[in-house]
Amino acid sequence: MSHADRDHAVNPSSAADSSPRPETLAVHPPHVEITGSRPLGVPLHQGHVFAFDSADDLATAFTSSTAFLYNRLGNPTVRTLEDAVARLEGGTAGISFASGMGAINSVLQGLLGSGDHVIAQTCLYGGTYAVLTDLAARWGVDVTYVSGTDPEEVRAALRPETRLLYLETIANPTTRVSDIPALASVAAEAGVPVAVDNTFASPLLCRPLDHGADIVVHSATKYLSGHADVLGGVAVFKGPDLYDRVRHHAVEQGASTDPFAAWLTLRGMQTLSLRMERQCASAAELAGRLAAHPAVEAVRHPALASHPDREIAARLLSGGGGVISVDLAGGRDAGRTFVESVRLASLSVSLGDVKTLVMHPASTSHHQLDEAALAAAGIGPGTVRLSVGIEHVEDLWEDLEQALTKAV
Ligand SMILES: *Cc1c(COP(=O)(O)O)cnc(C)c1O
Repeated sequence: MSHADRDHAVNPSSAADSSPRPETLAVHPPHVEITGSRPLGVPLHQGHVFAFDSADDLATAFTSSTAFLYNRLGNPTVRTLEDAVARLEGGTAGISFASGMGAINSVLQGLLGSGDHVIAQTCLYGGTYAVLTDLAARWGVDVTYVSGTDPEEVRAALRPETRLLYLETIANPTTRVSDIPALASVAAEAGVPVAVDNTFASPLLCRPLDHGADIVVHSATKYLSGHADVLGGVAVFKGPDLYDRVRHHAVEQGASTDPFAAWLTLRGMQTLSLRMERQCASAAELAGRLAAHPAVEAVRHPALASHPDREIAARLLSGGGGVISVDLAGGRDAGRTFVESVRLASLSVSLGDVKTLVMHPASTSHHQLDEAALAAAGIGPGTVRLSVGIEHVEDLWEDLEQALTKAV
């Protein structure tokens, strides 16, 4: 069989019956059909537009949320990620986004309108707090902040125009754990849906939908993907109504996921359970050792007996998570010295990576807060945040210990 015959045979729809010219062949590569076997890994469908054989099929695809015609509306690799995270979280459907903020923004803007009211927990991811502040300024969306642990605070904050209760399973960087079931049941009595940012816990430690939440959002950039090589976000829904409203807005917003990003996230997710297991075990071990170190004033990690939400964590989480916050006795200078003195750990924002990361919130993520506002957010001038990776725990301890001797 000549090259021309073979190309024609595998791609009968290509251009003309006569042998196409090189200019044409360049834009019509042969379509390789796989028969008798299938890829073990998820295939990467990077193309953004899909071709149809029938005009009716294309017309139908325009009104369907499951057909593939254009990537902003759906892509098989991205759909695989949406379905995978939805199944992990025990939801009925998911929507994937270009980043965690894309997911959070689409949920908030998709569900809130002018004059609506939201109840949110005080210690929120900074980007989420910024969106709520912006919605308040632009649309008059009113926000009441609650601690996240007291259902009576939620009951007192409810209004007829309350449209959403927004929580985080484990807060940043305090590691406070919200009492999702207690708060969600108060919201449910009032018919108010509950959204939970489950980034810090991952579905391996907690499935908020099982505890009364209606929507779960993730920054897939963190634990889900796990390798600091991709940005992503996913929202998962318990039922179809909220899904439809957010998807409608998401398509308009256009924060859709690049298929390669979805593919990388799916690749990382295959080891999520192994990474979480190691990261939780190492974080618990390091938290205990740090708490006993003379340069350390206080340590917060949900697995510690001293954690303020120990009882909630025991009910809700199947592990303490990989993030530790440590208050150094030497204050701001000690915090900064510590993050510059680690050798194995990296001075970096973000979390959930296979590598251990450290940062000093008071001079970075929370730099806009004065001492009083920092204290209200549970952050001291000498607080450092550790996101524990999968390195050997003794190598990590040696690194933290040598950095602590410099940060006194
Ligand atoms: C990082 C993060 C986000 C934002 O996610 P991006 O992927 O950076 O947009 C939202 N919530 C939490 C808890 C996060 O840690």
